[in-house]
Amino acid sequence: MLCRTDVLVAGGGPGGLAAAVAAARSGARTVLVERHGCFGGVITQTGVETVAWYRRAGTVDLEGIGREFERRAEALDGATPDVQSQSLALDSELFKVVADRMVLEAGVEPLLHCLVTEPIVSGGVVRGVITESKSGRRAILARRVIDATGDADLAVRAGAPCRTLAPDKRLGVTVTFSCSGVDKARFLDHVARSAPTYGDWTGRWYVQTDGKEDRLFSPYLQEPFDRAREDGLVPAEVRGFGGTWGRVTDAGEVTCLNVVVMDGYDAGDVRQLTGAEMEGRRRCLLALEALRRYTPGFERATLRTFGADLGVRDSRAIVGRYELTGDDVRGEARFADAVGIFPEFLDGYGLLVLPTTGRYFQVPYGILVPQGVDNLLVAGRCVSGDPVSHAATRSQLCCAVTGQAAGVAAAVSLRRGCTTGELDVAALQDELRRHGVRLD
Ligand SMILES: Cc1cc2nc3c(=O)[nH]c(=O)nc-3n(C[C@H](O)[C@H](O)[C@H](O)COP(=O)(O)OP(=O)(O)OC[C@H]3O[C@@H](n4cnc5c(N)ncnc54)[C@H](O)[C@@H]3O)c2cc1C
Repeated sequence: MLCRTDVLVAGGGPGGLAAAVAAARSGARTVLVERHGCFGGVITQTGVETVAWYRRAGTVDLEGIGREFERRAEALDGATPDVQSQSLALDSELFKVVADRMVLEAGVEPLLHCLVTEPIVSGGVVRGVITESKSGRRAILARRVIDATGDADLAVRAGAPCRTLAPDKRLGVTVTFSCSGVDKARFLDHVARSAPTYGDWTGRWYVQTDGKEDRLFSPYLQEPFDRAREDGLVPAEVRGFGGTWGRVTDAGEVTCLNVVVMDGYDAGDVRQLTGAEMEGRRRCLLALEALRRYTPGFERATLRTFGADLGVRDSRAIVGRYELTGDDVRGEARFADAVGIFPEFLDGYGLLVLPTTGRYFQVPYGILVPQGVDNLLVAGRCVSGDPVSHAATRSQLCCAVTGQAAGVAAAVSLRRGCTTGELDVAALQDELRRHGVRLD
């Protein structure tokens, strides 16, 4: 056995990080286990820095640990204004340190380089997990477990009902990359002159907007890839080029090029994950060559890094006590068991809706609660809902909302001597308010 704890959180992305910090701040002994060498998930491992690119003047937004991610990064000089929104783009490298500090300050025990392989379940209740690491195969006994693996790894192995879409219906996977040697002034001048908008997405990705998005600026690149295809640089059968860039630094680095989207991969299959990483790197080099040839400012750009981990948008989710729907997100749903709010922001499954209007929905506790196994909660992108609602709940800051709620719920259930399934929601809401979470 590795240790005993009150709360074990598996996975240290925005969902798991928020869950662990929240549980510890609510007084529970907490262990946060992550398979890679840093916390932050897609932010730090894939290098996606735009945590709140939806935020506009009219947005009514969450309050809680997600906002703290931005404030803490800014205080460390690890965030700059996002080019498209009223938010901050994080420096994904420095965010590793932000996450370390938040974990240590809250009193969470961190475990990096440790894979959680399965839950220990008896009598329909989760009692801990099995881990694999350089320390060997070890159990961690825990009174509450939070599955923040992104893929609902623990929930499915505990026998909870889960759903996956057919591979051709899922959101594509991405290998991101960053460049050095970009002439910033020349590139930004080109961007200003070409004035890309979210409307440019609609023809390419079969995305439907509300119309109000179409004329807003988007840091979107398509033309270089179209020209590369015309000139035979990109083979006709290779689809999915086009997307966004992140920060451009004064040193001539473009930090997150999210321009290679690959459909049809199953992130639950180790051979397909391997294939996606390798094919993604191949396509990133084609994309870089297209940028060099056809994008002013990129002529002398060189590869700096590939994202350290494949970016997975869509894999497995639980079928929870409640299934959030696209209508809930679009209809400003209100719930008696609300544990947070999130703006009406949809990005995925053919929809792009930006929260320019002040509309928002409440996030219900029921989407964190799996069926058939107690004292297990999920947080992050594997919460329960239909695909359209997933286009909202998968956002990094919505993952922080569900993470914070799961962490506080685990701690409050321990204090009150009940299971997470039996938890009195009023007590959970009181504690969340005490943490500064916005519930309505
Ligand atoms: C290319 C790409 C671009 C995106 N762009 C944006 C954007 O601009 N803005 C936005 O808000 N969202 C964006 N998203 C979506 C968002 O980043 C994710 O949905 C979000 O990070 C999910 O958070 P999470 O905590 O659920 O999971 P992840 O961020 O995936 O974190 C899961 C963590 O768990 C760890 N883990 C997994 N399994 C185990 C295990 N068995 N044992 C131990 N550790 C484990 C992983 O290593 C990882 O650290 C993007 C996603 C991708 C892939």
